[in-house]
Amino acid sequence: MPGGQSERILGECLACRSVYAAQQWADGAIKPIGAKNGCRCGSTEFRAIENPTLDGRQEEDPIGE
Ligand SMILES: [Zn+2]
Repeated sequence: MPGGQSERILGECLACRSVYAAQQWADGAIKPIGAKNGCRCGSTEFRAIENPTLDGRQEEDPIGE
């Protein structure tokens, strides 16, 4: 499992917007740390939050497919 290919990030659940400490892997997979089965809401889809701001500002930038 440990491959040194992951980056520590914050991951936001696409369904309920809960934020988890997560790891992003080289293939783009985002896996919340300590939530191996995904979000407690049941979703397993997350997006990376890079450079989280401390002032609570959030932007809804569309993510290209
Ligand atoms: Zn969720």
